Amino acid sequence: MDEEEPNICVLVPGKMIPYALERLRQHFRTITIERAEPALLSEEMKESVKAVASFGNVGAAFIDALPRLQIIANFGVGYDSVDAGHAARSGVMVTNTPDVLTEEVADTTIGLLINTVRELPKAEQYLRDGRWKREGPYPLTRGSLRGRKVGIYGLGRIGRAIALRLEAFGLPVSYHNRRKVEDVPYTYHSDLLSLAKAVDTLICVAPGGPATDRAIDDQILNALGSDGVFINIGRGATVDEKALAAALKNGTILAAGLDVYADEPNVPEDLLSCPNTCLLPHVGSASVHTREAVANLMIDNLISWFSTGKPLTPVAETTHVMAMTKKGLP
Ligand code: NAP
Repeated sequence: MDEEEPNICVLVPGKMIPYALERLRQHFRTITIERAEPALLSEEMKESVKAVASFGNVGAAFIDALPRLQIIANFGVGYDSVDAGHAARSGVMVTNTPDVLTEEVADTTIGLLINTVRELPKAEQYLRDGRWKREGPYPLTRGSLRGRKVGIYGLGRIGRAIALRLEAFGLPVSYHNRRKVEDVPYTYHSDLLSLAKAVDTLICVAPGGPATDRAIDDQILNALGSDGVFINIGRGATVDEKALAAALKNGTILAAGLDVYADEPNVPEDLLSCPNTCLLPHVGSASVHTREAVANLMIDNLISWFSTGKPLTPVAETTHVMAMTKKGLP
């Protein structure tokens, strides 16, 4: 360790849950700023910040503005908002929080899928509005899980946990990844369009970033067909939201359930006005239990880095970054 933990300065740009801030303060000198913008950095911060703990954007200019930065600990498994490629080229470690949120996000996905197909939020609203008493039973839903064929776009940790749950529901599962997964009984499709043609329910849990940007477009939605259901628990940027809103409005697909959006928290009016959407405000992992586990792994990564020179869960782009090659280390 290059110095005692309490002297190590950790910068937290933007929002962070109080539990994480409290635990960070037990170990590090912790400073908060409104967002990760170079203009908000004082000279003292530029001189002293060695770590960033973040739940949002950390771009190249911000990384460059912190000459003593060694590590960016991302709060969450998806780190598309961190410029990890630039961090890697600058010798800065990036960590994320895999596994600890997998089951929670898979649970949420199943809830979102059932709510979307069986219209449960709308049925509850019907009851609360007194319409059950006045008008009689809620109309039968056109959608059902029965007989559905599910495709998973991104069969990684969370995708596999979703697939296990779907198996218990008696639904056949297929998937698309860049690489076939060897130890699963699900049908592999080497391209997304082929998967979309083979199923009527598509769950997106692939990471965000240039490789998946707007991969769900009108062609994919067309392939799902008029009984098609699209669920997005991955990242909003993976979907062409205009094409999705059009497909929902003109009956190209039946319904969509979304937890994530391209420009959060701004949800396009086009999607808000579609009656056949079930919309959640990015709550996939948002329980006290799971977000505290995420915070602990984020902070344990920082503690491990500064005490042993090795992080617990580095992202793929920065596995080669070594503590001893870091700027500011002896
Ligand atoms: P993971 O284990 O890394 O799984 C990602 C999967 O996507 C892998 O199987 C990967 O397989 C596949 N993939 C990656 N890039 C692809 C591409 N260009 N085309 C096709 N498949 C691709 O990650 P995870 O822990 O399951 O998390 C997945 C994502 O869920 C996160 O990145 C995050 O965006 C999202 N998430 C959302 C919430 C929420 O609250 N809504 C919470 C947690 C996570 P190949 O490498 O073989 O392609």
